[in-house]
Amino acid sequence: MMGLAGIPLGLEFTFLDPSPDACAGAVGSLIQADFSDTDAFRRLAGSVDVATFDFENVPESSARAVQEIKPVYPSPQALGACQDRLHEKNLLSSLEIAVPAYHPVSSRTDLLEGLDKFAYPVVLKTRRLGYDGKGQAIIRDQEDLERAWQKLGDHDLIVEEYVPFEQECSLIGVRGIDGETRFWLLTRNLHVDGILTLSLAGGFDDALQAAAEDIMRRLLDHFSYVGVLTLEFFVLEGQLLVNEIAPRVHNSGHWTIDGAQTSQFENHLRAITGMPLGGTSALCEALMFNWIGELPERDRLLAIPGVHWHDYGKAARPGRKIGHATLTAGTLFELAANARLVAAVAGGKFPVLLNSIF
Ligand code: AMP
Repeated sequence: MMGLAGIPLGLEFTFLDPSPDACAGAVGSLIQADFSDTDAFRRLAGSVDVATFDFENVPESSARAVQEIKPVYPSPQALGACQDRLHEKNLLSSLEIAVPAYHPVSSRTDLLEGLDKFAYPVVLKTRRLGYDGKGQAIIRDQEDLERAWQKLGDHDLIVEEYVPFEQECSLIGVRGIDGETRFWLLTRNLHVDGILTLSLAGGFDDALQAAAEDIMRRLLDHFSYVGVLTLEFFVLEGQLLVNEIAPRVHNSGHWTIDGAQTSQFENHLRAITGMPLGGTSALCEALMFNWIGELPERDRLLAIPGVHWHDYGKAARPGRKIGHATLTAGTLFELAANARLVAAVAGGKFPVLLNSIF
């Protein structure tokens, strides 16, 4: 998606990916290498003017190897800070940004200490390499505790209080090399089994939007950040708690391709190449459906007005995000009506999820 956004800007791409059939190969040349292969990253650096990443589990050392040769945005330091949930939460707390209560866990005793502090239920998470609900477990009782410890006990962990949030949302922002910042609308996110399934752009009041932007500005300034940054929030009693920082373009911002003046991908590229940033206003109502594990029937969906289809060309596998569709409409009423048509074709959890938002 970044490559697709960059070609009209006159940019050319070299991608590095462990898979020989990575879909990015359709829009640029591809170096097939492991993310820890620093020699391959040095080769990549030799063939580009500037480098970036769209996956936060690229090792910081690989990003630093590139940085010795060419600029890397966002900085490897920002990347590293977001790779460890404990460091991330410590950083947020030091900037006086609210997060769910947490406790570091490197032994069973630590976990029991955490449970004493928060009581059931709690969420146990690996500090590193977790995403889409991987590497985490909700603990509601002693039995869950044994199961979770069996599964995750070998890793460095944190335990968090379980947040009975009203909603989940995310803010995506961008900062240019000159320090200019722009933000898209707060986006409401619905997850199934820890995986993002629906994202609805906007619908939050101005005060919450301003509060989210204020939080992000503190982080952007802290890192002298360049590029797109995402914050995932829980909304609890009308207040924001940060769940996670993603130093990259984000799945909950895919609606911006079809629904905003400038997409997150285009503005990320504009930022890291020193071009002026584009406007971030929404052009219409927008709702994104994630296709997880399998694609629904494309042509039946394309017959519904306002459906924009995005097939990533990835092999279908349970739990894997292999495409999405963004539904756009002039009014919320029209969006809700057409969303029901989409949900009826796509099936699965979509009809029930839609009932919880419209
Ligand atoms: P994460 O990988 O941390 O983004 O978590 C994936 C999803 O699990 C989140 O989007 C929430 O739906 C849920 N989740 C994670 N942490 C908590 C928590 N402390 N309390 C309640 N739900 C959580």
